[in-house]
Amino acid sequence: MMNRGLLLVLSGPSGAGKGTVCEAYKCRHENIWTSVSMTTRAPRKGEVEGESYYFVTVEEFERKIANDEFLEYAQVYGNYYGTPRAQVEEKIAQGRDVILEIDIQGALNVQENTSEGIFIFILPPSMNELKKRIIGRGSETPESLLTRFQSAYNEINYVSKYNYAITNHTVEQAAHDLACIVRAEKCRVTRVSNEILSLKEEDLNELID
Ligand code: 5GP
Repeated sequence: MMNRGLLLVLSGPSGAGKGTVCEAYKCRHENIWTSVSMTTRAPRKGEVEGESYYFVTVEEFERKIANDEFLEYAQVYGNYYGTPRAQVEEKIAQGRDVILEIDIQGALNVQENTSEGIFIFILPPSMNELKKRIIGRGSETPESLLTRFQSAYNEINYVSKYNYAITNHTVEQAAHDLACIVRAEKCRVTRVSNEILSLKEEDLNELID
C-alpha cells in the first residue's frame, strides 16, 4: 500500500524567506505540492490568481468558513488567509508531499485539527537582515512595514512549538536543510512499509523454500 504523503507546515516571520526556500526545494523535488491559500487581501504587483493565492471577497471567505471548507484559517494583518481543505487531503492520500506556507496561528490550528504534520520554522539570520529583506521587497507602506517588523519579533518566540527550525542564511543551504528533514521523516520507523514489519515466520519459510 502506498504511504501517505507528508504534510509539511512552514511558518516564519514575513521576510524570512519561506516562499523562496520552498521554490528552491520544489525545483529539485518532484513529489511536492504547495497548497495555494485563499485570502481577502488585495493582490500585490506580479501576483497571479490561483498561483500566488486565490483572491476572494470577505463575504466569499466567510461563506467558506461556514461550509467548513478550510483545513485552517486565520486573520493576519487584518485580512483572512486560509488553506482549502479538499486538495490538501486529496494530494496526501495520493502519496504527494504537501507544503503549507502559513502563519503561526494557522500552524497551531493544524496541530489541533490533525494528528499529522511536520512543523518547520524558517528563521532569518538576524533581525537586521530581516529588516533589509522586508524593505528590499518594496511592497509595504511605512505602517505595514512597522506592523510586520513588530510581529516578527513576537512570532520568533513561537519557534518552540515547531519540530524543526531552519535558519535561512542562503536559499541553497536552507532548501538543502528542508530536503534533509523530509528525508529523515520518510525514514521514520512509523512510515516503514507494513509489508516488511508484518513479516511472519511462515512467510519467512516460504521465502526460503
Ligand atoms: P502575505 O500577505 O505576506 O502574502 O502573507 C502574510 C502572512 O499570511 C504570512 O505569514 C503567510 O505565511 C500567511 N499565510 C499565507 N497563507 C496562509 C494560509 O492559508 N493560512 C494562514 N493561517 N496563514 C497564511
